[in-house]
Amino acid sequence: MGIGVYVHVPFCRSKCFYCGFYSVAAMGWKEEYVGAVEREIAARGEYLPTREAETLYFGGGTPSCLEREELERIVEALGRGYAFVEGAERTIEVNPEDLTEEKLAVFRELGFNRLSVGVQSFSDERLGQVNRWHTGRQAAEGVRRAAAMGFDNIGVDLMIGLPGQTEDELERDLETAGGLPVAHLSVYMLSIDAGTVFEKMVERGEFRLEDEEVTAARYALVCRRAAEMGFEHYEVSNFARGGRHSQHNAAYWQGRPYVGFGPSAHSYDGRSRQWNTANVRRYAEALERGELLFEREALSDKDLYNEFVMTGLRTKWGIDTGEAERRFGRLWEQAQGRVESYVSSGDVERVGGRLRLTEAGWLVSDMVMADLFAV
Ligand code: SF4
Repeated sequence: MGIGVYVHVPFCRSKCFYCGFYSVAAMGWKEEYVGAVEREIAARGEYLPTREAETLYFGGGTPSCLEREELERIVEALGRGYAFVEGAERTIEVNPEDLTEEKLAVFRELGFNRLSVGVQSFSDERLGQVNRWHTGRQAAEGVRRAAAMGFDNIGVDLMIGLPGQTEDELERDLETAGGLPVAHLSVYMLSIDAGTVFEKMVERGEFRLEDEEVTAARYALVCRRAAEMGFEHYEVSNFARGGRHSQHNAAYWQGRPYVGFGPSAHSYDGRSRQWNTANVRRYAEALERGELLFEREALSDKDLYNEFVMTGLRTKWGIDTGEAERRFGRLWEQAQGRVESYVSSGDVERVGGRLRLTEAGWLVSDMVMADLFAV
């Protein structure tokens, strides 16, 4: 089975107040970054035993803020290093202000066949409060433009719990997204990540997250409205129409190997995980010297079991119980008492040799997964 290929583009025009991903709000290191990614692609050729790739994902940061030549150089280097299967899913994350005819044409020419658009909210007030550069209207018009130009696999990201967001507004956001030609919805709950502006605001008492019951009710609303608009709930935070699941992310959840390029990018070979330095300058300077700067963690059987439980239960496909028994024997056996109690409470169900969360179970997924972990 082919691998997944990820490229982390660590540049943003400004830093959103909630964002904990590694990115810098400056474009100064783009040239060095592109050269370094080209070198890293050449240097990591032997990391996995196969170079056949099924998916490509440009994430960030804001990949869409790269210029044509910059994207082209990276795509060409990937083409030299990997054999992408026919019809491979090739995603690029795009911010709404980049959904211009000119940029969309570039994405198409470079082979991207899936767009993941970071909308977050269609309310201009909400967008301003979290320091985003686009308007709700720009996002909606951009998605329609992309569809008119032939993109038939567009995903939109929204958020639950932005400051001041009401239930009605969230429902309007969902309806706006559902009324657009989008095949995929990702809806994430706001969390307070280290190093963010929101973290400082919380420390100063200027902002606090919604109560758990409010968040749970909003999540339930998202699940219900998404289903009514024809989206299948296939992962805790992800919904797809017409079977257009994110193949790249599904491969992560199925524990398949992947290789990542760029600062902070992770790679996984089935037994260990490694992640590049989260500093674009150090990343580029190291590759200039011919070095890769990363940390590595070997995964124990317990780690692998916990990941298997977590990634499996996050999705509608759940866990293959036969595989769990085969691969993890005693660890899986030890969890059976807890599994049965969740089957009795109706949070998980057994269907055709698999164990998966029920609709009620999605609401308490973190608790169920943690409870089935080996400690
Ligand atoms: S949410 Fe996206 S655009 Fe905003 S800072 Fe994070 S990576 Fe950049």
